[in-house]
Amino acid sequence: MSKKDFDLKGWTDSAKRVFWPVCAVTANQILKFTKRLFPSKDSIEREGLRLLIVGRHRAHTAQAAAPRHLKLGISIAAALAVTLCVLTVTLTGSQVMSVTVNGQMIGYVNNEAEYTNLMQSAKAKISKANGNTELVIKENKIALAPTFVPGDEKKVAEKAVSEDELVNTLISQNAVETNVYTLNVEGKEVGKFGSLAEATDTLNSVKEEVSGDQGNQSDNNGAFQEDIAIQSQTEALGQTDNLSDPQTVKDTLLAGGAQSEPLVHYETTSTETTTEPINFNTTEQKDPDMAWGDRETVQAGVPGERTVTRDVTRVNGEITAQKEISSEVTTKPVDEIVKVGTKLSQLGDTGDGKLGKPLVSWTFSRGVSAAHTGDDLCAPEGSPIYAAEAGTVIFAGQFGGYGNIVKIDHGNGLQTWYGHCESFTCAAGDTVTRGQQIATVGDTGHATCFHLHFEVRVNGAVVEPMDYLE
Ligand SMILES: [Zn+2]
Repeated sequence: MSKKDFDLKGWTDSAKRVFWPVCAVTANQILKFTKRLFPSKDSIEREGLRLLIVGRHRAHTAQAAAPRHLKLGISIAAALAVTLCVLTVTLTGSQVMSVTVNGQMIGYVNNEAEYTNLMQSAKAKISKANGNTELVIKENKIALAPTFVPGDEKKVAEKAVSEDELVNTLISQNAVETNVYTLNVEGKEVGKFGSLAEATDTLNSVKEEVSGDQGNQSDNNGAFQEDIAIQSQTEALGQTDNLSDPQTVKDTLLAGGAQSEPLVHYETTSTETTTEPINFNTTEQKDPDMAWGDRETVQAGVPGERTVTRDVTRVNGEITAQKEISSEVTTKPVDEIVKVGTKLSQLGDTGDGKLGKPLVSWTFSRGVSAAHTGDDLCAPEGSPIYAAEAGTVIFAGQFGGYGNIVKIDHGNGLQTWYGHCESFTCAAGDTVTRGQQIATVGDTGHATCFHLHFEVRVNGAVVEPMDYLE
């Protein structure tokens, strides 16, 4: 283009006065349109404004003689304005976004923000109609694209996407799914929930139930022994009726359902301090002046107290292991002292409360110990054995290592036993008197020589016979 093409020299002044305002108005339209197309392009806006100012200025000063370079600028601006004017007439319309679901264009939205809001309310509506479950939109089925709609804005309004339209299309085009969360124990599904919170809450309620109140603890680290996972997966819309009831899942985890064994084992470890009593000891003092079997408390026992700190492990609330790590006696226990009478004053004809001798004479061989329940009195084979006191023969026969044995009950909890006998001169059920012969010395049972194994029992307990013999 040569500069001559843009020279307005030959124009009349009146033509110039009309030309510049037209250019100014046109440039204004171009500016509006450009801003809509490129809302962020500030430079374009600046250029447009400059063009406006120059145009308006030139309209007022067209009559004045202008320098040659200014005239050239004015000429270029004028040519540009004319071109834009033509474009503006051609491109009048709206820049919007088209919404396409599964290849089917359903209409327009003005911008992405409007689309986002519309989609949110559509999801909320579908969710509400499906048990308030979480929804997942299949994004790959939806396309949002910038679109220019020629003509006036009514054309956009006619095809604006409505909420109901979007809801119906999403459902009919299978573009929406339900999000569910499965609770799995050792890889096996035990529950299905509509939200992550519900799955987590159910698991937490199990923890709370089995953790419970564990008293004074300074530490508590819990963990399930099983591999437990919550996984999300999508399902077709409308499958909400197969979701689990949280309480039922909780019961199953704790009680195990048909197996009656818990499916989960929640292990906690804690350090616990408790106060515990210390039992007192009882010491007995034999009193030969008190009737045998009588007991008299000389000093009452008082339990002590101690604080104990332990590491305690629980599984589902039951203690499975504990280890004492420290203890402190805060109160010492007081021993109980009891006097125990040994006088057999209610027995015997000698009046001294003692038992009569079972043999005329003997050689003492072995006394009472932890391993031996009587005194071994050695005497020649066949020597007569006498009842130490009057009583009833309750047994005369073989009795394990005792061999042939006679047991006499004297009443009031007192018994005398005579083991290793060679023969009996009494029988079970006989009433015998003190000093009456009941058997002869032998070596039956576990015996290495001829002897009498002589026992005295008070209330079932073995005592030292010599303490009771006259
Ligand atoms: Zn013995």
